[in-house]
Amino acid sequence: MVKTYDVVIIGGGPAGYVAAIRCAQLGLETACVEKWINFKGDPALGGTCLNVGCIPSKALLESSEHYHYLKEGFGNHGIQVEGITLDLDKMMVRKEDIVLQLTNGVSTLFKANGVEWLQGHGKLLAGRQVEITHQDGSVDVVNADHVIIATGSMPIEIGAAPVNNAEGIIVDSTGALDFRQVPKTLGVIGAGVIGLELGSVWNRLGAKVIMLEAVDDFLALADQQIAREALRQFKKQGLDIRLGARVMATEKIAEGVKVHFKDKEGEHEIVVEKLLVSVGRRPNTDNVAAPGSDLLFGERGFIHVGDDCETNLPGVYAIGDVVRGPMLAHKGSEEGIMVAEIIAGQHGHLNYDAIPWVIYTHPEIAWVGKTEQALKTEGIPYKIGTFPFSANGRAKAMDTAIGMVKILAHAETDTLLGCHIIGPYASELIQEAVLAIEFQASSEDLARTIHGHPTLYEAVHEAALSVHGRSLHKINT
Ligand code: FAD
Ligand code: AMP
Repeated sequence: MVKTYDVVIIGGGPAGYVAAIRCAQLGLETACVEKWINFKGDPALGGTCLNVGCIPSKALLESSEHYHYLKEGFGNHGIQVEGITLDLDKMMVRKEDIVLQLTNGVSTLFKANGVEWLQGHGKLLAGRQVEITHQDGSVDVVNADHVIIATGSMPIEIGAAPVNNAEGIIVDSTGALDFRQVPKTLGVIGAGVIGLELGSVWNRLGAKVIMLEAVDDFLALADQQIAREALRQFKKQGLDIRLGARVMATEKIAEGVKVHFKDKEGEHEIVVEKLLVSVGRRPNTDNVAAPGSDLLFGERGFIHVGDDCETNLPGVYAIGDVVRGPMLAHKGSEEGIMVAEIIAGQHGHLNYDAIPWVIYTHPEIAWVGKTEQALKTEGIPYKIGTFPFSANGRAKAMDTAIGMVKILAHAETDTLLGCHIIGPYASELIQEAVLAIEFQASSEDLARTIHGHPTLYEAVHEAALSVHGRSLHKINT
């Protein structure tokens, strides 16, 4: 007999596995179909984020920053360090251990919550049936009162630079998280979030990194004042970022790869030992729905959904990278919680205006809400408050007094509209602004909140004070 579940989720990344846990917490009989096979050849939960995305990249960013700081940073503190060596194998083993701990952790959470893991490839059939093709080729079908598709995303490939991670010369992010030697030169196509993070890792470990970015604007989605400061800082670190440089073709040669690109001055070529293709990600909808299921796809292959993540098929939802919105793990997880609660008859909701973005470079970049350029385009009247970390005592003591906090508030109501940070621990600091926006706070609310001293958070406080020209530790203009 075909088994019927309350909910079947296809995909066990941060969108799908969080949805599964929340469904189970709400008393729904839940199964999650997941096919990932990890670097050890074992089935694994956690998706891109835990296996080859957020977590391994942050592990290497942390390790590489320690290495770089030991070599360059401690001198200012009066600490002389000699004889520093790099054990890249050990760095990679540490990264792999963290990945295994976290992915095994999800499996433990499934068991503890009673979520059934159906290992294999899931496909939506008509009538909310889900077909599961197991690794050995056998096929099962289950019924579901509700289906949640959370199949994530894949790196975009370009004909000009075909990726082969196994060969390890032209690679995508998965390959660049796994180099076994530091390349002398690394080319990066695309100066987006992933290119910048992985470019930073290998730059810190000693590679000469050249980034080729097709568009003229740097970090077009970020507030452009912050993006300009970021570009200045990254260039100072030795990242060779070339804007308006479109890669047209590549050739594999004995020394590595010859990369042909075009900018406004004409055609050029560079030779690099390894090449990372990081030109964005696309929704992963390969063989996810049988034609007879009538699932509707929208622009650029995303599964079409409404605000509540329901597809055109009643009872079938889609969440995470496979639907519109920023391709961020926490966005997918929150959609998972929202949908689980809606299925359980509750009032699940997600505030798409309060999603934090983080880039884990040095300095870190983080933001929430509207950028200044968006406010201008939308004709929303605003006031700006800024504060530099160079005037923040804690940042000075840490010897990382670079960057700034920028707050945008409505000119008439003072409601917080956006917060943009480049500087130390921007990834953590931004959360204060996310909470403030979620609570519909004003800049005055932030300005009247007591902030501990000396902390980096005082820079957020001062930026809020500065919205009304009341900053205490900088000259108000
Ligand atoms: P995924 O994590 O892609 O998971 C989808 C899962 O579905 C996969 O496990 C896949 O095997 C499975 N699947 C697909 N099709 C089927 C099928 N038919 N049957 C069964 N299973 C299927 N985001 C952040 O928020 N912060 C970061 O710091 C960050 N860093 C990143 C760094 C890198 C290098 C990369 C590549 C991404 C990073 N991201 C980061 C993005 C983040 O990884 C994604 O936004 C997130 O993983 C999306 O979650 P998801 O659950 O929608 O999809
Ligand atoms: P992201 O989506 O943040 O990962 O960024 C990907 C970046 O790659 C975008 O800024 C694109 O402009 C850039 N890009 C796409 N195709 C090319 C190309 N052929 N050459 C150089 N850059 C590219």
